[in-house]
Amino acid sequence: MRWAARCKEAFEARPGYGLFGIVQGSMYRELRHESAARLIETGFDGYAVGGLAIGEPQDVMFEVLDYTVPSLPQERPHYLMGVGKPGDIVGAVQRGIDMFDCVIPTRSGRTGQAFVRGGSLNLRNAKHTEDPRPLDAACSCRVCTHYSRAYLHHLIKAGEMLAGMLLTLHNLHYYQTLMAGMRDAIETGTLSNFVARFDS
Ligand SMILES: [Zn+2]
Repeated sequence: MRWAARCKEAFEARPGYGLFGIVQGSMYRELRHESAARLIETGFDGYAVGGLAIGEPQDVMFEVLDYTVPSLPQERPHYLMGVGKPGDIVGAVQRGIDMFDCVIPTRSGRTGQAFVRGGSLNLRNAKHTEDPRPLDAACSCRVCTHYSRAYLHHLIKAGEMLAGMLLTLHNLHYYQTLMAGMRDAIETGTLSNFVARFDS
């Protein structure tokens, strides 16, 4: 908390920049509330939930969000650090989180994993060897409109760096589309339908 106060003092306000306070407190409700209350006293542009998504089960993460997010100012952005898989993100948005950062779309791309509607694909698997379908027939990204699963599998097997690049492109597009879909749903008041329809 002393460090947060020093940051606030040192921060120079300028357009396009904001300073976020980071709520700590592990899985202890009282500590999370105390952390949030003291950060709010100091006053920040936004509030991040830290010390989560470090290996705990999803239901524990959601439980911490259930009692932490309501203690943050509603008019300020809420940021969940280091999350996550698509299902984690959907559940966190449902609990009032606005912003995320995560390596999963790019790291997964580099290791042969593609996120698609209904789950994920491991393009290393031999079953894709002759599969002419795109990663996701409903996806409008450059990879899905130009390349087959078989070709992507071939690139991986050949040790081609292009495999990781193409899978990363698709995964980023998937994540952007997911977030855009949730923004639209929030605007039209249909987020609970979106969450109910979301598959994996
Ligand atoms: Zn795609």
